[in-house]
Amino acid sequence: MTKIIIADNMELEVVEEIKKLGQVVYKPANLANELKDAEVLIVRSATQVNSELIANSARLKIVARAGVGLDNVDVAACGAKKIKVINTPGASLNAVAELAIGLTIAMLRNVQKAHLQMKNKIWDKGKLIGSEVAGKTLGLVGFGRIGSMVADKARALEMEIIAYDPHPKESEFVKFVDLKTLFANADIISLHVALSEETRNLINKESIVKMKNGVYLINTSRGEVIDEDALYEACKSGKIAGASLDVYKQEPYTGKLLELENVYFTPHLGASTKEAQIRIGKELVEKLKQELVTW
Ligand code: NAD
Repeated sequence: MTKIIIADNMELEVVEEIKKLGQVVYKPANLANELKDAEVLIVRSATQVNSELIANSARLKIVARAGVGLDNVDVAACGAKKIKVINTPGASLNAVAELAIGLTIAMLRNVQKAHLQMKNKIWDKGKLIGSEVAGKTLGLVGFGRIGSMVADKARALEMEIIAYDPHPKESEFVKFVDLKTLFANADIISLHVALSEETRNLINKESIVKMKNGVYLINTSRGEVIDEDALYEACKSGKIAGASLDVYKQEPYTGKLLELENVYFTPHLGASTKEAQIRIGKELVEKLKQELVTW
């Protein structure tokens, strides 16, 4: 029987489905030990599948990442041991796109500040005058699966949409521009690039200078895309009027951006919807089934 290790938290109904595919060990205390005779390892983002972990896994054939990014999987080390790496790229897209739109509106309408005020028994509407998104220019950096979904939703909110992507797509309502033009024209910038050497620290001191004064920034992509020190200075000075962050270089995030009143935080919640978790589970089970029949 195929031995399958689920190293991170997983919805119970998904665990039940996976149990139909083999002998499941759920969240073992000693992962390295259990891995010695396992064929499949399933992780989310918590477990680091590094070369050290897989070095002693003599029978491992598949590493399955329940989610999109493979940042926590050493794909090259898996390749060298002929271990197949699979993920579930389609399942969480809508959840992330909705979060990006939700964070945008919440930030522009001071929803988080209003909540804190009222919790402190303060009723001071005068300090909470917000802005509407209709008519504002949304600059999408990265127009892949999530970026294009954000565009669809933003269009319904009557936003003007410009985008930069080295591989522009056909779109009736999105104007593709170069990055400099995007920075110069966007009222709100939302990041949807994958992490690469090219996109690491894409938002830095120099690129922030090119942005409009009082721009808003949303990052639901990867923390490493932003130079957090540069963001801190820009939010502190008001060059960036507000930033909403879901992802961080170091997670859990405990850094100095937390000191600022115009930076808003969610703890990497992009894919955290009931619907996305179920879709991730279904996509994972389907992919595993396909892999297992070819053994
Ligand atoms: P995708 O690969 O479909 O799209 C990424 C796009 O970025 C591509 O179109 C690519 O051409 C473009 N790109 C590459 N280099 C670029 C550059 N230098 N400048 C601008 N664009 C560039 O990826 P996706 O599925 O849409 O995911 C987007 C991001 O969202 C990824 O970083 C992913 O890890 C992240 N994500 C976050 C969460 C979360 O929980 N917050 C969940 C899922 C995905």
